[in-house]
Amino acid sequence: MDRFEQEHSQNQNRHRILQALRLHGPLARVDLGSIVSLSPASVSSITGDLIRDGLIREVPGGESGRGRGRPKVLIELTPQAACMVAVKLSINRIEVALGDFAGGIGPVAVRALNTLELTGEALIGHFADMIDACIKSIPADFGPLTGIGLAIQGLVHKNETLVWSPALSIRNHNIAAPLAERFRLPVIAMNDADCIALSIRHRAELEAIENLAVVMLGTGVGMGLILGGRLHSASSGAGAEFGHTKYQIDGPLCHCGRRGCIESFVGDYALYRDARSMLDLPNTDALHPSEEQMQALVDLAQSGHPVATSLFQQAGRALGYGLSNLIALIGPDLILVTGSGVRGYEQMEPEMRRALDEALVDTLLTQTEIRPYPWTADLTIRGIVLQVLDGVRGG
Ligand SMILES: [Zn+2]
Repeated sequence: MDRFEQEHSQNQNRHRILQALRLHGPLARVDLGSIVSLSPASVSSITGDLIRDGLIREVPGGESGRGRGRPKVLIELTPQAACMVAVKLSINRIEVALGDFAGGIGPVAVRALNTLELTGEALIGHFADMIDACIKSIPADFGPLTGIGLAIQGLVHKNETLVWSPALSIRNHNIAAPLAERFRLPVIAMNDADCIALSIRHRAELEAIENLAVVMLGTGVGMGLILGGRLHSASSGAGAEFGHTKYQIDGPLCHCGRRGCIESFVGDYALYRDARSMLDLPNTDALHPSEEQMQALVDLAQSGHPVATSLFQQAGRALGYGLSNLIALIGPDLILVTGSGVRGYEQMEPEMRRALDEALVDTLLTQTEIRPYPWTADLTIRGIVLQVLDGVRGG
């Protein structure tokens, strides 16, 4: 191994140790060594360097009492060692928060606005204002600001160009470069469903799953795909547009302007639109019924109301056929269904399973587990924080 290779492998080991601590939380050196498959001598030498560099620390008063013999000292990431700014754009809403080195998130600043009216310049202006305010709030004892991450509802090309978003009228706009220039920091933009997939996989119990699809139900229907342990980005950078694969030729109109997409049956706006055409329900902003309105529809289905029940059955069927195509093409080990729309999962599941049974041969059906995953709104921001931190090699 020449000097370059040696340094490279040392940097990689530092990175793996930092990632393991971010994933598992405080660990004793011996447990850390077995997670990253390094000898006690290597772990001790690298953690010594990282402690000296201020990136990790021994947990104050934290000793693992497990096992016999000397109590083991736990080590953890130093949250203040570095930080980043996370931005989330969704329909009529921008959120910004500070992410710390351990992957923690500070208070979230929210700006409500009509995003469809924004020009590219105005959008960047709002981002920049909010990022500025976030940077001003960084506590004095925090280390360097390492980057800015943008989690975008919509398609993002090459981590910089917003191709299309249901939240915006602008198209094909580079949203990373102007911010990178203004703040002199690396900026990456990502699809929100990809952020959510990263965030969900970043759990010790899911770490071993190589092929994971995270299907997001809500206003739209998105998907983040992890293949071979890595986030899959299509060559267009568009991510997996699961929601716009087709279920019914000449079917209902979809948000994307085409007809019969899975989203045009399963998306919140689609369910509410169809419900309103048959039931006396309050009018809503056509594109986004409120959480209360959607929950009321779920409650109606749960109480056995025939119209609401049949809508969720129809949605479940569209979702089931969509998942069957995904399984036939890719065969993920696990499909997790999440997003705010997971509120209606129970109402959709029986028909979804029936559709899967109809569509797939048994061998395919049994290779993929499908289950709901509880939704929390901070999964998106957590994902973009982890992605930016992943670029901090600590080397
Ligand atoms: Zn569509």
